[in-house]
Formats: sequence, C-alpha cells, structure tokens
Amino acid sequence: MAEVTLKNVGKRWGSFVGVDNFDLTIADKEFLVLLGPSGCGKTTTMRMIAGLENASEGDILIGGKRVNDMEPKDRDVAMVFQSYALYPNMTVYDNIRFPLKVRGVDSSTHDEKVRRASAMVELDDFLHRKPSELSGGQRQRVALARAIVREPNVFLMDEPLSNLDAKLRVSTRAQIKNLSHELAVTTIYVTHDQIEAMTLADRVVVMKNGVVQQIGSPTEIYDNPVNIFVASFIGSPAMNLIDGHVQDGTFRASHVEIPGLSVPDGPLTLGFRAEDSGIAAPGQGQINAPIYTLELLGDATMISVRVGGVLVSVKADKNFRAEIDDMVSISVPQEICHLFDGQTGVRIE
Ligand code: ATP
Repeated sequence: MAEVTLKNVGKRWGSFVGVDNFDLTIADKEFLVLLGPSGCGKTTTMRMIAGLENASEGDILIGGKRVNDMEPKDRDVAMVFQSYALYPNMTVYDNIRFPLKVRGVDSSTHDEKVRRASAMVELDDFLHRKPSELSGGQRQRVALARAIVREPNVFLMDEPLSNLDAKLRVSTRAQIKNLSHELAVTTIYVTHDQIEAMTLADRVVVMKNGVVQQIGSPTEIYDNPVNIFVASFIGSPAMNLIDGHVQDGTFRASHVEIPGLSVPDGPLTLGFRAEDSGIAAPGQGQINAPIYTLELLGDATMISVRVGGVLVSVKADKNFRAEIDDMVSISVPQEICHLFDGQTGVRIE
C-alpha cells in the first residue's frame, strides 16, 4: 500500500516561493501527473517526495509514514529522469542490475529480475550492449527497466520522454501507460506536455508559479477548467478565448454576438473549443469574420479567423472549401461556451 500524502508542503529559497501549500493524497496505484509550464514547481515537488530536496514546510507521507527526515534511499521510490542517467561503461544488463547490487538484494535472484524487467520494456535482445550503442528510446527503456527491477512502492518520473523525437515519444508513452497498468504501482509523473498528461493520468495537477491551480481527472480538467490559465493550457489547439462585454445576456466583441447567457452585465472572457464548434450557414453563426488561414489536417480542416486581435480556430469538415479572406460564419451556441470573469480569469458557474 503506497499512498503518498503531501500535507501543506512548501518550498522556499529565501523569500522566493518555489512551491506553495501543496496539499494532496495520491492513492495507492494511482497515476498522477504534475503538469505546468517551465518553472511552475513540478520538479521541486517531485524532488521533495524523492528526498532530493527538503520541504521548507509541511509533511510528506509515503504509505502512511512521515518521510521528511528519511534519506532518499530509504523511501522506497524509484526515479526515472529525462537524462536517463545510465552508466556508460556498463552493459544494459549491468545497468539494470545495478540497483539490486547496491541494495544488497540476494544475488541468486538478480538474473531473473533483470530478465523480467528487460522483457517488460522489450530490451531482451540488447542486454549485452553499452548505452552508447542504443537509440534514445532504448536508453530511456533501460532507465525504466532499472526502476522496475527495484520493485519500488512509488515511481517518480521527471519528463522521461522529453529527449525523444515525436514518434518515439508517442510509442514510449504508450509503453509507459501499459507498464503502469501491468505493474500497478503508484506513479508520479512530471511533464509540461498536456497531451502526455491527458493520455497517461488518472488525475492531473495543473500548477502555475508554485501554486496548484486545479486537480482532477483529464476529462474534468478538459470539460471544466477552473480558470483561464488551465483552459488555455489543456487541449490542442488551445481553447479559443475572446475578451468582450455582456449586456442583457448577450456577449459582444468585434465580429462576435452570442445571446442567451445568464450572467451579469460586465466584462467577460468567453472560451470555446475548436472541436466543439463548426461552420454555420452564411450569417447564421455567432461569429462572422473573414478567414485568416485554413489548415488541412487530413481528417478535418482547421479554419482561423481574427477576432479583436486574437485568432479563433474552428474545426470544419475535411471537405470544407474556401479561400483566405472569404467570409465565414462560425457556430458558437451558448452550450459550448466557457465563461470566465473578465477581470480575475476565474470560471463563472
Ligand atoms: P521545468 O519544467 O523547467 O523543469 P519546473 O516546473 O519543474 O520547471 P522547478 O524546477 O520545480 O520548475 O522550479 C520551480 C522554481 O523554483 C523555478 O522558478 C526555479 O528557478 C526555482 N528554483 C529551483 N531550484 C532552485 C534553487 N536551488 N534555488 C533557488 N530557486 C530554485
């Protein structure tokens, strides 16, 4: 049972707050993703769990035991880094075996454990090679196998895919997802890539400037972002966000008029997702503007229009035909709209 609890955990360097009041229980076997832009405090949070960084305040519990004062090696966590951190002079086999030797695990079990872990990441045929003789994806799999072989209570993964090219990232991501299902070990995974977060996580923690913005399942965060920051960070393309004004239940901005909103008069940021809207019959939609650009995606055509200084995208049928500067009418019914306070950026229910 390896539940991980962070009770009001914070990290300060002098007056600088790296992580502020992080409060969360990660369930046994849960796959939790810490997501946010560079510098938001996700790595620091994970390093505090690993014991590589001291928490300035709060309690960290692993399996119900307070670990704040425990050495990293005693915390029963295994870390996988972006940089792989393999020993260049050792073979793949010895790299994977290394943690067993260091921990004094009965040597008669090593071979079986190394072979089982390497089979899980499909490295069986590479055990005799040195890291320099492997591709980036294979090296990352050695790092994964080296974590697996330890049979830890918690996996900590810090941007493990970010050194891989786009194609390998997708296949290795799938492998990590499958492995986590097979191993059923609590996993905390750091990334700035929202697609990784959405595809891997049971729950996502979105962070900004050391502060947790939202915690929820990928669907919850996609469907109900609590503020503009989360709304613009999750989803591809990013949610369309238009600043405007509401009067008598109608939102207006240049080229935009959306009636039927039950919100008070005043400034409002209106959001909607490209995939939720579509092309309307001429003049029948809520946004009417000239086409700025068209992108053929294969399964759809992405149309962008410029509305009050921002680009707004809408997914049209793959057979939609038009030219740049043609007028287009975009359907933005009230049901697909996300409404955010025009001043604070907080979602309005
Ligand atoms: P990235 O994706 O770039 O790794 P991150 O979200 O993981 O970013 P952290 O590495 O956790 O961010 O850093 C959070 C903040 O704390 C950053 O602003 C960083 O500059 C600062 N920071 C990290 N380590 C130290 C340190 N030893 N001393 C002072 N500030 C630090």
